[in-house]
Amino acid sequence: MSTTCLNWIDNKYEPPIGGEYCDVTSPMTNEVVGKCAVSGAADVNKAVDCATAAFPSWSSLTMKARAAIMLKFHALVKRDTQKLAELIVLENGKNMVEAVADVAKGNETVEYACSLPQVAQGKNLTVSRGIDCRDTRRPLGVVASIVPFNFPFMVPMWTSPIALVLGNCVIVKPSEKVPLTMNAVCSLVVEAGFPPGVFQFVHGMADCCNAIIESPKISAVSFVGSSPIAKIVADKCRGLNKRVVALGGAKNHLVALPDADKEGTVRDVVASFAGASGQRCMAASVLLVVGENKEYDLISEVVERAKNLVLGTAAGELGPVIDASSKDKIISYIEDSEKSGAEILLDGRNPATTPTATGNWLSPTIILHKSKSDKALHEEIFGPVLSIYKVNTWNEAIAIENGNAFGNAACIYTSKGGSADWFTSRFRAGMLGVNVGIPVPREPFAFGGLYGTLSKYGDGDITSEGAIEFFTTRIKITTRWPAPLSEEVGEEVGIGGDANDAANFNGKM
Ligand code: NAD
Repeated sequence: MSTTCLNWIDNKYEPPIGGEYCDVTSPMTNEVVGKCAVSGAADVNKAVDCATAAFPSWSSLTMKARAAIMLKFHALVKRDTQKLAELIVLENGKNMVEAVADVAKGNETVEYACSLPQVAQGKNLTVSRGIDCRDTRRPLGVVASIVPFNFPFMVPMWTSPIALVLGNCVIVKPSEKVPLTMNAVCSLVVEAGFPPGVFQFVHGMADCCNAIIESPKISAVSFVGSSPIAKIVADKCRGLNKRVVALGGAKNHLVALPDADKEGTVRDVVASFAGASGQRCMAASVLLVVGENKEYDLISEVVERAKNLVLGTAAGELGPVIDASSKDKIISYIEDSEKSGAEILLDGRNPATTPTATGNWLSPTIILHKSKSDKALHEEIFGPVLSIYKVNTWNEAIAIENGNAFGNAACIYTSKGGSADWFTSRFRAGMLGVNVGIPVPREPFAFGGLYGTLSKYGDGDITSEGAIEFFTTRIKITTRWPAPLSEEVGEEVGIGGDANDAANFNGKM
């Protein structure tokens, strides 16, 4: 069955005005499983106009009323988890357990958004005698979210629910490689009770994204994707004085000390680099092995475990990578390392058996690098490849991690708290783990790498408290009420505030 993903504008499916579509293929077979609208500026403008019309009434609802609709949406996602997960397996190639987790984790941010009436209040303070200052959060208006292929449900749910409950109208641009999941979400938008124009989806590629960025009526853009595109999006938005947060790629480092727990470390390292076929911005990419453990050889244990991974999309199996060009790119990093003298401890380039003849299958690959300058040690590969490099000292490990151009995540494996503290206080990355290879901060902690590296551009955060700031403006209101007349209270009263307060108020401070 092939699905055509149309735009979702004003709570209706709308074909793209230019009549253009691209193919959606399954990574398991490379067969076409759907069509995706390729929208241009006219489609974006149509969605923006509907959102602009919807904004006054949506933003004037109480936050509790908006959260009530989001709560219904949360229940509907829970009800349809299996259906959504099946679409994720089909279009993204994740295994079923990973696909269900994609939906469940995305729904956790929906849940957080439902709690905003309890957590997103402003401040109120008596700043001078008789004078109060409070701030109130105002939504920005129409905002947009441009998302990547690797989490078809979770990443669109990082930002949209928070922005919506805060009173914004949201336009999501799903990845053209995986539009089916969000296409199925459209019917839940109506069922949950979002009014027309509030929560919309426009499909397309770079032209569509540019139209979103350039629309003068879109106040803020959140972006998640590769570093080069994140930089382009952030630069363009800044040039237009538009609020932007843009998360880019990653090169996450794991450091294993000789005292690391064998079972846990081996299990975790393999799950971390090979899970979701390495197509996670939180995937382990480089393992720095410090010194030696006399009792076991960590590297051979990791290789042995990874060797046993089975290809497929059932629970626990290793799915294909997204497309043929991605597969070629991953292979080119392995070839490049081989040429520079690296040892390929486990070679996944040509799996002996594959579930289908035509899918983008790669088994896990483990490279033991001899040269610190290998490209595979520095660039994002985004596939089931682990680069290992042996170091003799802690300082050497830290120098390598600190010297990489990304600043997303890093993790230390050790059984000593003091050693863990030494590393966590020196790692440069924005998200750190201790014996946790995928150190994803969960709500209410914000997700994201270090600003100023290839992993993050722009302002604010994509989730949690930072996203509350990102999707609102704090308006400050200063109030002085005249004191009641003495006859009103039956006693003599002075005027509110003292002489200094009055002077401050006349701009003399
Ligand atoms: P991508 O950068 O190719 O695409 C991301 C989005 O940008 C898509 O919706 C795409 O249509 C759009 N796009 C493409 N060209 C554009 C242009 N010129 N201008 C504006 N938008 C454009 O990324 P991808 O391949 O879909 O996803 C994988 C990447 O995403 C990896 O680098 C991964 O690390 C990153 N990622 C990062 C995080 C994070 O939190 N840091 C999370 C998930 C994925």
